[in-house]
Amino acid sequence: MVLCSNELTVYSTGAKHQGATSQHYSPTKVMCLKITYTYFLESSRIILVPDKGVGVSAVIMDGKAISKEIQTEIAQEVAQFIEQSGITPCLAAVLVGDDPASEVYVRNKHRACERVGITSQMHKLPASTTQEELLTLISQLNSAHDVHGILIQLPLPEGIDTLLVLDAVDPQKDVDAFHPENVGLISQGRPRFLPCTPHGVQQILDRCGIEMSGKHAVIVGRSDIVGKPMSMLFTARNSTRGPQAANATVTLCHSRTQNLAEICRSADVIVAAIGVAKFITAEMVKPGAVVVDVGINRTDEGLCGDVDFDAVREVAGHITPVPGGVGPLTVTMLMYNTLDAAKLFAGM
Ligand code: NDP
Repeated sequence: MVLCSNELTVYSTGAKHQGATSQHYSPTKVMCLKITYTYFLESSRIILVPDKGVGVSAVIMDGKAISKEIQTEIAQEVAQFIEQSGITPCLAAVLVGDDPASEVYVRNKHRACERVGITSQMHKLPASTTQEELLTLISQLNSAHDVHGILIQLPLPEGIDTLLVLDAVDPQKDVDAFHPENVGLISQGRPRFLPCTPHGVQQILDRCGIEMSGKHAVIVGRSDIVGKPMSMLFTARNSTRGPQAANATVTLCHSRTQNLAEICRSADVIVAAIGVAKFITAEMVKPGAVVVDVGINRTDEGLCGDVDFDAVREVAGHITPVPGGVGPLTVTMLMYNTLDAAKLFAGM
């Protein structure tokens, strides 16, 4: 409820985070900001939300640039691994049916493999494929010595039990980290593989100098692919980037969550993984908060995320765009896991 919307001029100073490189910062970022706020009174607290379009603009966290940076690192490690072991890491992708979006995703993964020096196999099956036929292929890939990672592109056609199929993948080749054995290891803080999208989010935040330790992270969405594993990575004691990228206090929200807007406004970091275009509005974001948009929604106006980007960027301190935010990282972290799977195979 808006009680009053008096104009109040506040001077605030932005500070560059330690460890960040200039390429992750928007060129329009200014260090001294003159902001007009609107007052909100909620649960006996006053909340100040900056008005839109007053020149306050969040730092854009450039997922494309960060993804490129990590792929360069992975390519170096792959070359080193091949030299030491004589083994070329190989990812086998299984695509059932002809969903155009899935075909694009698989093609992107294939291109990423080429860029980092990983071999890839494409197993394209017709939509009429039976569950038994698919399970037979998975069993063959499980025992193939020249395949180190197996990727089952989702969604699978109706009539195929997705969980049964994912459970059939050898946990040592489960580069998506969907197998219950791998999920269990993550939950115990001793991961074999890290879930690609949440790991990508962690990489973006840390490489942009956002410290997570002690922060309140609100994750909207509790799926097994994004929200739930994201909460496990954020609450872990350590991460691939060190303890500063983990050790957060997490609130995991979903469609039954009450007072969602209020919970989001209490967040230092919001991760939106809902699947509803522009769901997170400026009024749900604390001024200066970090907003990570995992959503990919196809609308009449084109691709957009779960965050109302144009409005939220005027409130947030840091924000990821869609496209060019989390998406490229998901593919890159799959490369990271495939190299790890090959190392596991080689006993390294
Ligand atoms: P799911 O549909 O599996 O989960 C959506 C979650 O959002 C559920 O937990 C659901 O709650 C919650 N939710 C839905 N509506 C609301 C609401 N009104 N209020 C609060 N919570 C709500 O989606 P995914 O996690 O698989 O994907 C989420 C988005 O991320 C999609 O847009 C997807 O395309 C995108 N995505 C992007 C990736 C990338 O690489 N960038 C990778 C994976 C996904 P409940 O559980 O109660 O139903």
